[in-house]
This record gives sequence, structure tokens and C-alpha cells, in this order.
Amino acid sequence: MDKPEATQSDIFRAFLENYRWDGVPHLPYKEEGSAPFKSITRQVLFHDPELRCELRYFEVAPGGYSTLERHQHSHGVMILRGEADVMVGGEVKPVKTHDLVRIPPMTWHRFRTRGEEPMGFLCMVNVERDRPQLPTAEDLETLQADPKIADFLAL
Ligand code: MN
Repeated sequence: MDKPEATQSDIFRAFLENYRWDGVPHLPYKEEGSAPFKSITRQVLFHDPELRCELRYFEVAPGGYSTLERHQHSHGVMILRGEADVMVGGEVKPVKTHDLVRIPPMTWHRFRTRGEEPMGFLCMVNVERDRPQLPTAEDLETLQADPKIADFLAL
């Protein structure tokens, strides 16, 4: 009897140590220099044309943050480990493990870690989606008119 090739299966994948999954490549978040961000990795857990969505796991090292961006597509997020401050539109909220965050279309958003632990989150997104937009100088000025947003973006 042939030995099954565990790594060829995309039906069952084991959870490994350190928030890795069997057979899932551990990738940089974005191309270096393409947008401002710090200390993030990305794993695509599901990329399913039938579902028309992807489920990704991002992990941000302490002191790290995601790109400030917006786009037509939305995100469904579950925090899987650690704590963060999350900016969505005009709001900044602290979030912790298992909290949920919905990012509506065309809404500025950024994740930033809190504390000494890495912060990891699941992010559901459409397979077919528009490219993220980065803020112009004018957009930034508008965002920074709110002192709490200015504080969040300054760190
Ligand atoms: Mn986004």
C-alpha cells in the first residue's frame, strides 16, 4: 500500500508550533518598500475559487504595524493571538485574542501591536479584489485632524 503524501493534501493540514500550518508557506507581508509597514508575515491558509475567498493568517512582531490603506473590498478579521490597537475609519480600539473586526469598503485601517507578545490575526478577503490605496498627503492631513488618529499614526 502506498504511503499517503501528507504534504500533498490540501484537505487536512495540521497546526504546527509557532502558528505555522503544515504545507503552508510562510511569506513576507508585502513586497519590501511597496508600502510602509513593519515586522509582519503572511500565510495563506485557504485560497479557494469555489468559495471566492481567501483566509490568511498575519503575524505582527512586537512594535510592528500593518500598512495604512483602504480599498473597495472588505475584510473579516479574528484576532488569534496577542493584543493590538486597530484603527478603522475614525475609530481606534484595543482588541485581544478572539475579538472580531470588520473592515468596511473604502475605510482607512491599520493594525498595531500592543505589549510584548506577537499579535496574530485571521483575515478573510475576496480572491478577486482591488489593489489597496495608500493615503495622499491630503488624506493624511484629514485623518490627522482628529487628535486620537494623529496619536495612533504618529507611533
Ligand atoms: Mn486591507
